[in-house]
Amino acid sequence: MRQSMTLIPTLREVPADAEIKSHQLLLRAGFIKQIASGIYTYLPLAKRTLDKVEKIVREEMENAGAAEVLMPSLQPAELWQESERWYSYGPELMRMKDRHGREFALGPTHEEVITSIIKDVVQSYKRLPLNIYQIQTKFRDEQRPRFGLLRGREFIMKDAYSFHTSKESLDEVYDKMYTAYKNIFTRCGLDFRAVLADSGAIGGKDSQEFMVLSDIGEDTIAYSDASDYAANIEMAEVVCNDDKPSVEEKPLEKVETINQKTIEQVSSFLNVSPRECIKSLVLKVDDEFVMVLVRGDHEVNDIKVKNVLNASLVEFADESEVEELLGCSFGSIGPVGLPETIKVYADNAVQAMINATCGANENNYHYINVVPNRDFSVESYADFRFIQEGDPSPDGQGTIRFARGIEVGHIFKLGTKYSDSMDAKFLDENGRAQSYIMGCYGIGISRTLTAVAEQCNDDNGLVWPVDLAPYHIHLISVNVKDDVQVQLSNDLYDSLKQNGYEVLHDDRNERPGVKFKDSDLIGLPVRITIGKKASEGIVEVKDRKTGEMLEVSKDDLLPLLK
Ligand code: ATP
Ligand code: MG
Ligand code: MG
Ligand code: MG
Repeated sequence: MRQSMTLIPTLREVPADAEIKSHQLLLRAGFIKQIASGIYTYLPLAKRTLDKVEKIVREEMENAGAAEVLMPSLQPAELWQESERWYSYGPELMRMKDRHGREFALGPTHEEVITSIIKDVVQSYKRLPLNIYQIQTKFRDEQRPRFGLLRGREFIMKDAYSFHTSKESLDEVYDKMYTAYKNIFTRCGLDFRAVLADSGAIGGKDSQEFMVLSDIGEDTIAYSDASDYAANIEMAEVVCNDDKPSVEEKPLEKVETINQKTIEQVSSFLNVSPRECIKSLVLKVDDEFVMVLVRGDHEVNDIKVKNVLNASLVEFADESEVEELLGCSFGSIGPVGLPETIKVYADNAVQAMINATCGANENNYHYINVVPNRDFSVESYADFRFIQEGDPSPDGQGTIRFARGIEVGHIFKLGTKYSDSMDAKFLDENGRAQSYIMGCYGIGISRTLTAVAEQCNDDNGLVWPVDLAPYHIHLISVNVKDDVQVQLSNDLYDSLKQNGYEVLHDDRNERPGVKFKDSDLIGLPVRITIGKKASEGIVEVKDRKTGEMLEVSKDDLLPLLK
């Protein structure tokens, strides 16, 4: 590709609102362009790298026996109502109406769509297992879109869904996908770790996240310094507290909820039923305030907690309103130890509300266990423990250390959650109807690109690994008015391409300094410069990663590159 014909709008200055290296560099090197908060255009260079990530993913999915489809982004509300996620997903779900007033969601994920399809077309156990995937645009109205492509509101995901007749079959495919994921992230050149995640079940390897190790990661990994135990912090805490007895259980009737008007407002804001809303809201038990914690069914409860906070941002923007609502003053309340996941979303009035709500520390923590679609009980964990560095590792070997991670992939044994709620069944050997047992497997494609950029850079710009570089070679003509240089550049451009190299040819009429700066910023693995010595048939070759430079005769170039 001739650089004069493509679109690479490089920037000299670091964009003010880009906090992390990868975001700054992808903007500065002309890979991406923001259109609105959390919404980006992938310009030609990013598009090429995304294609390469996708190619790796497709090859590994093929190896794992997954078949590719492309499902619609626009999904009828009815499907989401069947699974009840219409009520539990909260404001992250982008909702819209068509001209007839029918409601739709823009897919944040596709369990409902794929389950409805399989339910229609696969009736017999003989057709199972099946593993179906797609690479597609997803929509999530994130509370805090940030870090460029890392947390977008529109982003590219590979999502796969598997259907089984038995747990054993699910285990088998889950293991295959685990291997595929390891291969994918290894081929992307990433420094990553697979960690245990909370699946909402009792434990074991029912859910794992693939975390790229990075200081800017939003997740905390708890790992052992003496074994290969590694879990996300929420999961480590679940295991840590597993043996705690529940001190007392209180029936629903004893829980006095906050005033009805607020619940109605919040429920209409969240687009959830008032009942759902009550379950996830701040509650008053006897004379103490308690709030829902992130536990159990990750997908539902995690989001519900965020909903509470989202809602409170809108509903209780004013401190005195919160005080009035909670019937207490902030002055009397001390600081609280809260898990990271909640802290992230807690600011201003919300932080104040959390403080007021919990008014607690590790020693008198109250914990509401929310079971979706069932009544809940209030359990009091007198010694609920937030895991700390230096704690004994849950596997009994060594002590816990923390690291930061970027979640690039997530594999999950769903069981019959969706097939039960959507009445999706197959007929077994005995002609009996059974719910499909399901797994789901996601990879953030655009997030992976960012994670690579975050790990592969230096002071001068990006440093792409060969397999993901938008082009292999940056061919630079120093002076495009010099016929000899132009001739040699064109000859080399053709012969490199004929030999299978992908070449970006900087044929722009720009100063050499500009070309070299741009070239370092873009970060292709090899730079070939055609300058003054073109008349002698000599070119300069530079390795972007090591900075090594050498001059070679044009005839020695191809053998050197091999
Ligand atoms: P996070 O914890 O970062 O919000 P998630 O657990 O909500 O992610 P999943 O539902 O597990 O995400 O989706 C599968 C994958 O999609 C994630 O592992 C991640 O790589 C990617 N992903 C999720 N949300 C985003 C986003 N807002 N922008 C870019 N990629 C995302
Ligand atoms: Mg999320
Ligand atoms: Mg997550
Ligand atoms: Mg996840």
